[in-house]
Amino acid sequence: MSKTSLLFVASEVYPFAKTGGLADVAHSLPRALSGEHEVSVVMPLYKCIERERFGIVALEENFNLFMGGIDYPVELYGCTYEGIDYRFIYSPLLCDREFLYGSSECGYEDNDIRFGIFSYAVVELLRRHPYAIVHLNDWQSALIPLLIKQEGTLIAKTLYTIHNLAYQGNFDSSALYKLGISMEYFTMDGVEFHGMVSFMKAGIAYCDCVTTVSPTYAKEILKPEFGCGLDGFLAHHRSKLVGILNGIDTEHFSSVNDQVLVQSYSDISGKALNKKDFLKQSGLIGIKKPLFVFIGRFVSQKGLDLLIEALPKIASLDCNIAFLGEGEARYCEALNAIAKECSNIHLTFGYDESLSRRMYAAADFLLMPSVFEPCGLNQLIAMSYGAIPVVHLVGGLTDTVRNIEKYDSEKRNGFGIVFTKQTGRSFINAINRAMELYRDKRSYSEIANHNMKCDFSWKESAKHYLSLYKKLEG
Ligand code: ADP
Repeated sequence: MSKTSLLFVASEVYPFAKTGGLADVAHSLPRALSGEHEVSVVMPLYKCIERERFGIVALEENFNLFMGGIDYPVELYGCTYEGIDYRFIYSPLLCDREFLYGSSECGYEDNDIRFGIFSYAVVELLRRHPYAIVHLNDWQSALIPLLIKQEGTLIAKTLYTIHNLAYQGNFDSSALYKLGISMEYFTMDGVEFHGMVSFMKAGIAYCDCVTTVSPTYAKEILKPEFGCGLDGFLAHHRSKLVGILNGIDTEHFSSVNDQVLVQSYSDISGKALNKKDFLKQSGLIGIKKPLFVFIGRFVSQKGLDLLIEALPKIASLDCNIAFLGEGEARYCEALNAIAKECSNIHLTFGYDESLSRRMYAAADFLLMPSVFEPCGLNQLIAMSYGAIPVVHLVGGLTDTVRNIEKYDSEKRNGFGIVFTKQTGRSFINAINRAMELYRDKRSYSEIANHNMKCDFSWKESAKHYLSLYKKLEG
């Protein structure tokens, strides 16, 4: 039987360009599916992508897109990487920018046109190379089901994954004209959202199936608290909404194979050298003290307000705390001000993939006090590197981290310190429980080693996607 052809569309893919978890998923899920499907992945060819390093070449398939009275030139590029066929869309307006979407404070004003170009170019690709299934991700590619419908002749079935409902791609209504999209779609059932055009709504309304990245988040987004104004709209489309838990690439995030570590390891006894090395590099003192790390975007979603509120108290305990991240200036300034007063806090501002892995390997605990969390990959990576997560029990964190008080060595899921209220008191209480666990060396090692043996790969979740694709094919 011939394999189904699948085009996976994402605005970022590791290792070409990454700002967060979407890039990890767009790298690892197609790899997990490729045994069963002919998979191609398509993304923009941003300026930051190292063409020579990856052997990216022009496919000599150039065309112009005519939208809103303007011609936009598009070039197609391609490469094969780790056995996967990658296609890249190059258009100057889309790609020749310093950042992927804008600075950490605000997105580029013409992101509607930029990702409109990307979406139309993918539709053109579908015309030239038919695929049975198109898998879209987040607002940047959410227009595609609408464009396929508007085009009228393409037969591809569409699956749309929401990685984070908070980023919807909402633009002024003039975007419709600029993108050559008929006003007939500008209704409450279509893309209209409080007088704006919502790319996210196009994905939800016109795709054949909607997924989000954990079962709990799939339920949460139907409620006003987490629905970001789209809870009613999603409830209307709930019959095609499914929550499938993300996995991680366990070959890439592997404490046994990771080349950037000073020592690879298969149980937590091997973490000591990595911790020693990291402490030395960052000027932190005390190998015997627990090391808490936070790795991620400095934005309100990740619980930065709570973290900053609680930080002086945490720092007063006998521990070390290290941060790696970038984001809003107000958070960076607040962290700087506290770190100046506390010698046991170390801050690294920026994005550094290999440092992040050295920190997961060095850490005893990962802090993840997120306000909401669609799935979260950090906790999965942390558990596979033997760092116990301290998490606010919300979204995907609920599906992936069980309370250590219910620890059962027979269970195949990961365990961590959880707190259920997003308050300073609950968080500090969780930190105190972490300190206590750390003092109980036997229990700490048992749980951390148990987590390291859990399977956080795509194995099970890829099967869910495969069965959805099959259903869509009919
Ligand atoms: P997000 O909401 O940002 O997508 P996820 O938990 O889904 O959060 O995924 C975050 C991914 O990005 C993880 O692989 C994490 O290690 C990585 N990451 C986040 N911030 C940084 C950083 N400053 N440097 C290196 N890696 C980072």
